[in-house]
Amino acid sequence: VLCVSQDFDFFYFVQQWPGSYCDTQNSCCYPTTGKPAADFGIHGLWPNYKDGSYPSNCDSNNPFQQSQISDLRSSLQRNWPTLACPSGNGVQFWTHEWEKHGTCSESLLKQHDYFEAALDLKQRANLLRALTNAGIQPDGELYSLSSIKGAIKDAIGYTPYIECNVDASRNSQLYQVYLCVDTSGSGFIECPVFPKGKCGSQVEFPTF
Ligand code: 5GP
Ligand code: 5GP
Ligand code: 5GP
Repeated sequence: VLCVSQDFDFFYFVQQWPGSYCDTQNSCCYPTTGKPAADFGIHGLWPNYKDGSYPSNCDSNNPFQQSQISDLRSSLQRNWPTLACPSGNGVQFWTHEWEKHGTCSESLLKQHDYFEAALDLKQRANLLRALTNAGIQPDGELYSLSSIKGAIKDAIGYTPYIECNVDASRNSQLYQVYLCVDTSGSGFIECPVFPKGKCGSQVEFPTF
């Protein structure tokens, strides 16, 4: 039989809390389309290997093409907003994510389907609802890392990885949430490996 080499083992589906992107030393810029909703936004859908390494920039012959995602554009603006400076309309961020990460799963998900898969995953992993239902709110208070992880696990069924960053006063805060997804991009799985990094045992959940 003809056997195609394994491109990657699973995806990290990564969502970012905008309040924690914006309140750091570096600050942020709202997109040209306006301040995003006070909700988690997509950062990316990243092919990964189970040894923790990952492929990147896999096909320079398959650049991001706006024409492929025209039907998804308004949903991407709402659910995958850019916060980097200077302000952009999102195209720069989606281009970066497609070219660095999306091209590494192109044999399984064409450009349109890659972005649609990420949007569908966000609908199925409503992190803000999971947290607020457990009394964990973006109010600038401190919450235990274990309560945050537990609330997400209870709501979504899978253990997340939490990435923290620090605010301008060096407080550890909830920045990104990683969930693992099978190679088809359609279902959550338990993570084969977790990223490495430190949070405090108590982390801030900033307002946005
Ligand atoms: P940082 O060094 O800020 O954690 O990550 C910078 C960038 O490297 C991320 O935005 C992402 O593109 C990539 N990256 C970091 N960690 C991982 C990982 O564990 N898996 C994959 N696939 N990409 C990662
Ligand atoms: P990564 O390589 O870390 O996946 O993607 C980060 C790149 O996307 C950086 O070049 C960053 O400037 C750009 N970028 C644009 N908008 C955003 C945003 O809202 N959040 C993050 N984390 N990076 C963004
Ligand atoms: P445990 O395996 O006992 O849950 O955690 C072992 C160590 O990993 C502890 O220092 C804990 O703070 C850290 N840790 C556990 N889960 C996460 C997570 O989701 N994100 C980060 N950054 N550290 C974690």
